[in-house]
Amino acid sequence: MSQYRTFTAADAVEYARQFGGVADLVDSLEVGDGNLNLVFKIFDTKGISRIIIKQALPYVRCVGESWPLTLDRARIEAEVLNIHGQFCPEHTVKILHYDPQLAVMVMEDLSSLAIWRGEQVKGVDYPQAAAQLGEYLAKTLFHTSDFFQHPHQKKADVARFTNPELCDITEELFFNEPYEVHERNGYPRALEPLVASLRTDDALRLNVAALKHRFLSNAEALLHGDVHSGSIFVGDNTLKVIDAEFGYYGPIGFDVGSALGNLLLNYCALPGLLVPREAADAREKRLNDVRRLWRRFSERFLALAAENSRDRALAYPGYGDAFMRKIWQDTLGFCGTELIRRTVGMSQVADIKEIDDETMKIECVRQAITLGRTLILAAHQIDDIDALIARVRQNG
Ligand code: ADP
Ligand code: MG
Repeated sequence: MSQYRTFTAADAVEYARQFGGVADLVDSLEVGDGNLNLVFKIFDTKGISRIIIKQALPYVRCVGESWPLTLDRARIEAEVLNIHGQFCPEHTVKILHYDPQLAVMVMEDLSSLAIWRGEQVKGVDYPQAAAQLGEYLAKTLFHTSDFFQHPHQKKADVARFTNPELCDITEELFFNEPYEVHERNGYPRALEPLVASLRTDDALRLNVAALKHRFLSNAEALLHGDVHSGSIFVGDNTLKVIDAEFGYYGPIGFDVGSALGNLLLNYCALPGLLVPREAADAREKRLNDVRRLWRRFSERFLALAAENSRDRALAYPGYGDAFMRKIWQDTLGFCGTELIRRTVGMSQVADIKEIDDETMKIECVRQAITLGRTLILAAHQIDDIDALIARVRQNG
């Protein structure tokens, strides 16, 4: 059994040689631009990156040792990706090896692809990506749900993926801090009146409470837990999801809402990122992405429910549609909380950070916050994807 130690660049190369299944690995570079972990690219003799080594640190990297965090997140990440890879290999990064003691995983290298968020910030369109993400969500969430899992296996997996420490971060950052005066919040000062109005909006706070309650108690499927465009690689007709350390059994609408929320954040940010005509064009493409993602997700999930459900009660004709209506409502609400937590809260996104013009940035953030609020408050009046898109257009 290996004892935990933090990898050096040389350790990472040695480990990749042992478990990567690739010859001639000679060099490595730490590239973790994420907030939590070490990530090494391992290069061959030609200088081409071939393998990724990711190691969890016993604390939150972007904060330091004052914020300890369980190493068990590496096990959760590797095992969630292995399960998702079993049901949707085409859109899940491949885990080649992992060691729970070292909190290390050896992964397929996706360096030939690009992170979707960066591409959206530049206005580069990947017309197939949204449908592929919808496919990933439908397959992974359906097959880990009660529709498909054996009831004993499902209950064992709920326990295996409890993930209390990482869920605690989500519970605070999504559902508490943006609606409180909190030192970790990070919105522009000019928006203080708008943000203050969130704190005192009873209807909003009650709906956020209900969403948090569902996050805490609805063990519907094995979620990725943090599906945002910074955790998605895209290329020509390719999409791969990485970074599932926030995975746990939760409400399906949380994953779908997070995914849609990040597309809508980009929609709100585009006027600050591109010149007006390009921004208008990119915004239409983003709305198409929103439509395609939801359509593919819901159609594929319903088809799987009709054809592959193993639970006899849940397979009863019509139940899939009834459940999809609930997922839609949850999706809208969680999408709204993603828009607010990424603008008011601690975890800001490049789409907003990269807006140079301060006045424009404030306007884009204002739009994201008001859209988020609308989705949380008016979820029950937004019946379908076209109604959502109409609301987004109304918002500005
Ligand atoms: P964290 O969990 O710390 O946020 P991520 O899993 O998001 O770490 O990885 C951080 C960065 O490392 C990514 O943004 C990406 O640039 C790079 N990276 C991670 N996994 C891969 C991979 N499989 N292939 C290529 N680059 C990767
Ligand atoms: Mg991460």
